[in-house]
Amino acid sequence: MEKLENLDKIVNLCKGRGFIFQGSEIYGGMGNTWDYGPIGIELKNNVKRAWWKKFVQEADNSFGVDAAILMNSRVWDASGHTASFSDPKMDCKNCKTRHRADNLIEDYNKKHGVENMAVDAMSNEEMQAYITEHQIKCPNCGKCDWTEIKNFNLMFSTKRGVTDSNQDVIYLRPETAQGEFVNFLNVQRTTRAKVPFGIAQIGKAFRNEITPGNFIFRTIEFEQMEHQFFCHEKDGEKYYNEYKQKAWDFATSVGLKPEHLRFKDHDKLAFYAKAACDLQYLFPMGWNELNGIHNRTNHDLSRHQEFSGKSMLYLDPITNERYVPNDIEYSIGCDRLILALLCEAYDEELLENGETRIVMHFAPHIAPYKVAVLPLQKNLSEKAREVFKKLQTKFMATYDEAGSIGKRYRRQDEIGTPYCVTIDFDSLEKDTVTVRDRDTMKQDIVKIDELVDYLQQKLGL
Ligand code: ATP
Repeated sequence: MEKLENLDKIVNLCKGRGFIFQGSEIYGGMGNTWDYGPIGIELKNNVKRAWWKKFVQEADNSFGVDAAILMNSRVWDASGHTASFSDPKMDCKNCKTRHRADNLIEDYNKKHGVENMAVDAMSNEEMQAYITEHQIKCPNCGKCDWTEIKNFNLMFSTKRGVTDSNQDVIYLRPETAQGEFVNFLNVQRTTRAKVPFGIAQIGKAFRNEITPGNFIFRTIEFEQMEHQFFCHEKDGEKYYNEYKQKAWDFATSVGLKPEHLRFKDHDKLAFYAKAACDLQYLFPMGWNELNGIHNRTNHDLSRHQEFSGKSMLYLDPITNERYVPNDIEYSIGCDRLILALLCEAYDEELLENGETRIVMHFAPHIAPYKVAVLPLQKNLSEKAREVFKKLQTKFMATYDEAGSIGKRYRRQDEIGTPYCVTIDFDSLEKDTVTVRDRDTMKQDIVKIDELVDYLQQKLGL
């Protein structure tokens, strides 16, 4: 799992088995866009469902929204994105490719074993000096011939308006968070929620990233799962720590191993923030951010109060105190989490017969299909279809009668289906089936009448 070549294998598996395809592939692709296929969309929906369950359904005082992607441009003025949502870019004068100065330094440091350097706290001048001093080369052409660092705004802009002469510039949202902030009053009023309470959202975000890459790790269009928790300033630290724990628990509950997870505090805090850290995952290319947790104080609501003229004051019904609530933000990229889950699940097992099987060890609730129905021979397909129809009403199930049973097991292993149900001649005579466990490859004989209960219990659903 630590090996980088696994990432190539995972990309190939995703393409071959229908998890994820290159975006607009038949036209030669569209750089750093990816399309989820029939298996990938099931995985993604399961991940989103698991997140929503933990952060809305099972959370006290937490409510969902689904805000518009296109927002009033004043939102981005208030949030600071128009002025400063930028990355430090450098162009290679030799091959004309564009790079992020901080990423160049991080990659150089990783290669040269330089640890604990606070790259995110460096100024543009410091980064420029470090790159020159260490003669850091362009990853594309190998030359060290850079332009000066300039800040590059990552927001995609477009135009709104029906006549050429009267068009407003608007932006594709670079984060979902502002949709939660601008609906703070609406949610509080309609749910009659008392502080502390949370607002959650899952949705698309867009960033004109300078150096996207590593498959779906950093793309220009991606989905975020974000939760803002509004509280009194005095409780900020408590809830910040609580959300760190929740983020950790969620990551392990979907199948990430604790030894592949760690927290990293931010070296440089935004001027308004009290605390910020990332939960990092050990991706094949090294430790990298999986999600962020921030104590953002009352900065966001105060800025929207200032720019919109709407009061964000909350009146505490018990103490009668009026205040603008503080916010603890937890933000995780759904696609980045899926990459982590693919890396974690991927396994190559050497079998007793000398063959290697690729198996995706997804947690059952995340697995795209829960069960596959496989008739041993084609003339058993009528009975097999009957069983399949029954299972389909309870689980995401698939049916396969093409090829040898061994090959069909391999196909299911490669998409991580936890159980295969084989229909054989005993199914006709004794109304039983053979159920094969993906991880142990052990087989159980189960009565068809008891199959749904058996699977429900095994899957823990
Ligand atoms: P990075 O430092 O990796 O660019 P960030 O600190 O800018 O990320 P945030 O703005 O905190 O990221 O976004 C919250 C989460 O959204 C990240 O932790 C990550 O999981 C996800 N995310 C951010 N940018 C991208 C992207 N370009 N592609 C995929 N996921 C992303």
